[in-house]
Amino acid sequence: MKIEVKNLTKYFGNFVALDNINLEIVEGELLALLGPSGSGKTTLLRMIAGLETVDDTDKGEILFNNIDVSKKDIGDRDIGFVFQHYALFKHMTVFENIAFGLRVKPKKQRLSNDEINKKVTKLLQLIQLDGFANRFPWQLSGGQRQRVALARALAVEPKVLLLDEPFGALDAKVRADLRKWLKELQEELGITTVLVTHDQEEALEVADRIVVISKGKIEQVGTPEEVFHNPANEFVINFLGNVNLFHGREEDGRLNIDSSLE
Ligand code: ADP
Repeated sequence: MKIEVKNLTKYFGNFVALDNINLEIVEGELLALLGPSGSGKTTLLRMIAGLETVDDTDKGEILFNNIDVSKKDIGDRDIGFVFQHYALFKHMTVFENIAFGLRVKPKKQRLSNDEINKKVTKLLQLIQLDGFANRFPWQLSGGQRQRVALARALAVEPKVLLLDEPFGALDAKVRADLRKWLKELQEELGITTVLVTHDQEEALEVADRIVVISKGKIEQVGTPEEVFHNPANEFVINFLGNVNLFHGREEDGRLNIDSSLE
């Protein structure tokens, strides 16, 4: 699925949450929306999802494969969504959590129990939790729970996967493992994915391209290498200033990239 965001301006009352956003998300890529807290990342993700609509007072449009979906809500957009605190259903096993989206499908599209069994078993393998089907969420670690959340989102085979700080609540080691795993999984599935994060390192590691956002505006779009080696402006330099990546050195709050790598 190709997604285009065109001249999108979103108001909350008089507050401009998104200010003339133009963005094309390529089929199959993993795009990270990176920026400080309050910059509009979640709002943009929610608008792509259809959880927030383009109202009459707003401007612009969102296209899925050239079709305007601005007025369509989440049910009609063929997406999977994973939030930071995406609570699994506590009273349901891992199996039933993953199968949930398949069971609530309209009757005509509903799979047989046999087909659901096969599919959930496959997904359990994919998230490397074979043997966990009958556990309840409280019997899982935080990282395992987020993997189940991801499997649940993927069960209905969405064309687009939207992730809002999916590993935000986990400790550093688990985050690092999950990042690696997500990257491999996303590449294997080739599903168009948008990931919201305020973590530069996370964006660098998993994204094919990064969109740096500040105060509702796009500051830069590029591959991790482009953004980190050639920050477009003062904001991007300062925002990335506290990371030390590509063997860059931090001096005076600025990011200086080791020239031997350029
Ligand atoms: P981020 O995800 O980058 O932290 P958000 O998109 O959540 O930022 O929020 C951007 C700005 O829009 C914030 O100032 C937030 O308070 C405001 N905002 C978000 N949603 C609403 C809403 N439903 N009503 C009013 N203001 C909102």
